[in-house]
Amino acid sequence: MPVGIGFDIHRLVEGRSLKLGGVSIPHDKGLLAHSDGDVLLHAITDALLGAMGLGDIGEVYPDTDPALKDADSIRFLRETMEKVRQKGWVVESLDSNVVAEEPRLGPHKEAIRKKLASELGVPIERVAVKAKTMEGLGPIGHKEAMAAMVVLNLIPGEET
Ligand code: MG
Repeated sequence: MPVGIGFDIHRLVEGRSLKLGGVSIPHDKGLLAHSDGDVLLHAITDALLGAMGLGDIGEVYPDTDPALKDADSIRFLRETMEKVRQKGWVVESLDSNVVAEEPRLGPHKEAIRKKLASELGVPIERVAVKAKTMEGLGPIGHKEAMAAMVVLNLIPGEET
């Protein structure tokens, strides 16, 4: 069965709102990117593209495209899920790590899981969102960036 891996990282800066997994998170900084910088949605989109052999998110959604400036990344996920369904696949399960020193993601993990389960058409018990810190090490540990990593697999068929 096809398996996809995804990784993304963006700078955390003042003056941007923070979105993770399509959920707005209250914080005094947000992710700097051409789009809204949602690292988790970018990593998931990249994993889906990878599983289907359709290239990577930078090719499909170039950060030089003016039409994608400040784009809501849920659009990338929805369009890519449409391709998954058209090819006769569904997502069976997804595991992820969100790596950030702050904000603490514990209070938001369930909302993010629920949102991802709904967007991907996967039962929530097969969607994992795990929060990690970098123990103060490196740019993420210094609160200058946030990253996400994802593994997912596809199976043939209709959504359950
Ligand atoms: Mg990105």
